[in-house]
Amino acid sequence: MNNYGIDIWANDSFIIKNGKVCVDYGKKPAILDIVKELRNDGYKGPLLLRFPHLIQKQIEKIYGNFAKAKKECSYKGSFNAVYPLKVNQYPGFVKQLVKLGKDYNYGLEAGSKAELLIAMAYNNENAPITVNGFKDKELINIGFIAREMGHNITLTIEGLNELEAIIDIAKQRFKPKPNIGIRVRLHSIGSGIWAKSGGINSKFGLTSTELIEAIELLKENKLLDYFTMIHFHIGSQISEIQPIKKALNEAANIYTELKKMGANNLKAINLGGGLAVEYSQFKNKNRRNYNLNEYANDVVFILKNIAEQKKVLEPDIFIESGRFVAANHAVLVAPVLELFSQEYAEDKLSLKDKNNPKLIDEMYDLYKSIKPSNALEYLHDSMDYMENILTLFDLGYVDLQDRSNAEILLHLVAKKAIVLLGDKQYSADLSAIQDEVQERYLVNFSVFQSMPDFWGLSQNFPIVPIHKLNEEPTRSASIWDITCDSDGEISYSKNNPLFLHDVDIEKEEYFLGFFLLGAYQEVLSMKHNLFTHPTEATIKINDKGYEIKNIIEAQSILDVLDDLDYDIHGIKDILNERISNSKLVNENQKKQILGELYLFLNDNAYLKNTGV
Ligand SMILES: *Cc1c(COP(=O)(O)O)cnc(C)c1O
Repeated sequence: MNNYGIDIWANDSFIIKNGKVCVDYGKKPAILDIVKELRNDGYKGPLLLRFPHLIQKQIEKIYGNFAKAKKECSYKGSFNAVYPLKVNQYPGFVKQLVKLGKDYNYGLEAGSKAELLIAMAYNNENAPITVNGFKDKELINIGFIAREMGHNITLTIEGLNELEAIIDIAKQRFKPKPNIGIRVRLHSIGSGIWAKSGGINSKFGLTSTELIEAIELLKENKLLDYFTMIHFHIGSQISEIQPIKKALNEAANIYTELKKMGANNLKAINLGGGLAVEYSQFKNKNRRNYNLNEYANDVVFILKNIAEQKKVLEPDIFIESGRFVAANHAVLVAPVLELFSQEYAEDKLSLKDKNNPKLIDEMYDLYKSIKPSNALEYLHDSMDYMENILTLFDLGYVDLQDRSNAEILLHLVAKKAIVLLGDKQYSADLSAIQDEVQERYLVNFSVFQSMPDFWGLSQNFPIVPIHKLNEEPTRSASIWDITCDSDGEISYSKNNPLFLHDVDIEKEEYFLGFFLLGAYQEVLSMKHNLFTHPTEATIKINDKGYEIKNIIEAQSILDVLDDLDYDIHGIKDILNERISNSKLVNENQKKQILGELYLFLNDNAYLKNTGV
């Protein structure tokens, strides 16, 4: 039975039980039950479910693995982590994360003024804050204010001009000062589609020459004591461990050199993020080649060795992994609205009593006599017949009814062929057919809104029907979203084949789960066609099963228009006026129309017409 690679990507967070995808925790509730409950309460359309226990799980894993690695190596430096806000700044996630991270002293990383202000408001007391990215004087000022408020904050400079700004501001402000970190520019680079942040040509970091100059500047301005951390970040979703080890080695050597130059309070190395998530649904495809345990062991081991060799204290370790912490907490569940070949059912066939074109009669025979031994041949034959019918249609020899019959028969033959050849599912021939006769599933969501990295970077996310998993899916599937954009499609590909069930949406509901969407996807999202962030809910797993909390409905159409700076009162007035001026309806009808329009304006834009 197709298990959609759940043993590969699901990280023991989800399992299949009785044909349903269930949360692998507590009483193991089925995602379908949670979704049905929300839908019964009136929340239709796509639903984004957040599972706080999965945030907790990742935090525990990170601290647990590093504690173990440190113990095994008797490593004396401390381990610290901060969560980079850019990965997901939604309050439904951040507030949970801060609460769950309290006992670990888990901190926050900010890359902009807005993120820093979130960190200053929500970070746990004494938990570290690091600030990376390009900074102006204003941002640096806010960093000083954070320190003055009592936050344990480190401003990481990305260039000498930022250091000069810090020096200026330090002279103007009060006594407390933030710690200073320096991002180092490494030769080492990462691998994978996001690995652009390392290397000598990267956007960030100080070169060796600039590092020497920075130390001089800090000394001259009596700020060297505040220099406590060096930082690097070689990219996101680093799929191989080797570049991480290489980069750490390089950074650790820079660390010891800087200590030699008198940076006595330098005591921490910050490895940035990059810990990869396993997104693949298939064995041997685009897999990461390491796990957290290996990562933690390697980091501790490398630093221990270099500290020993160079006779420096073992540095404190900081990491800023975001994707690894956030990705698995959020699941989007979206209803299938339509299967496009459903109009090709047998009962739609309308054969003529006597004068069917010969080709149609022959196609009908193929359909009736197809069996495993001839399935492939018959399928190819009916594809040829279809071609011929289309030519005859263009020449005016067959009519629209014949053409419709041929289309239906081709689909019927293809469907049967796929079922008949089922257990040889991955044969080359069959995969060629599946390419040709995919079913198109129209799904009530927007790729642009909910999986922008699929659109922009061809990053695949696990897609799984959340029920019917004790039936073999037989249709090679392409997914269409509800935007009017032909890029809003996840097309069937041989490299990443998706099979879904042959369902009749008029008779039964069918829901797809899109997994691992918690990192980057929410805030990178686009409001293409004005489809907004879907309705979200937080699902707390408890002794009884689960509890649904913090439901936030998708924005109403009026709010979306307001965001675009439309004058929404103006819009209402115009609609009002146009209705009252209409000569096509009477006064009572006008009242009704107005009422209807107001309901639509106050509702979200997703489709509501799911069959049952
Ligand atoms: C983006 C970023 C991170 C987070 O990277 P992940 O791959 O999500 O772990 C950490 N640190 C810095 C400086 C970043 O820019």
